[in-house]
Amino acid sequence: RALRVGLTGGIGSGKSTVAGLLAEHGATIVVADDVARDVVEPGSQGLAAVVAEFGEGILTPEGSLDRSALGAIVFADELRRARLEEILLPLIAAEAWARIDAVPAGQVAVYDVPLLVEGQMQDMFDLVVVVEADLEARIGRLAERGLEPEQAMARIASQATDAERRAVADVIIANSGSLEDLARAVARMWQERLAE
Ligand code: ATP
Repeated sequence: RALRVGLTGGIGSGKSTVAGLLAEHGATIVVADDVARDVVEPGSQGLAAVVAEFGEGILTPEGSLDRSALGAIVFADELRRARLEEILLPLIAAEAWARIDAVPAGQVAVYDVPLLVEGQMQDMFDLVVVVEADLEARIGRLAERGLEPEQAMARIASQATDAERRAVADVIIANSGSLEDLARAVARMWQERLAE
């Protein structure tokens, strides 16, 4: 089977950028956020299950998931939010593993997953890579994406801490410097840990 790499990092750390660099080295990337979207596509078993639980009010007139309607329900009610996770997390996990398992032996499969630590997925990978950056760098990058510093801080506070991510890391990629520094760090990791 392929070598399985779990790639995580706090919001704004540069995790997706690292995934892109790993793809340039030849890795196949599975993106958790994409899988999460795909399992509730129109016509999917996931969307049907969500409608069965939350009603047709969470559908747009076109029949796709109305994320803001669903968000309004689950963010106001912890139990309903837990119920949504109970429905979706197993579907996301099954689909993600199907994609990871489809990567041929001898190759590198990278799962880009923001909540690796929160979801306690560390033992499922051959190598856990954690991307880290200074708080100022992260807030600056998120600002460029239109997130106010207060919102950025709130999201950062809602995630696992750097210490919690470090505790499960096999490799820590520091990304407080330039993109060139990052590319070099990823190239070094590829050589040392991922290239055959
Ligand atoms: P999220 O969890 O929100 O998806 P992320 O950790 O995946 O975030 P990226 O999307 O990779 O983060 O990076 C956030 C932004 O910061 C992007 O616009 C990216 O281009 C930029 N960025 C990442 N690393 C650097 C760097 N070393 N120097 C400058 N900009 C960077």
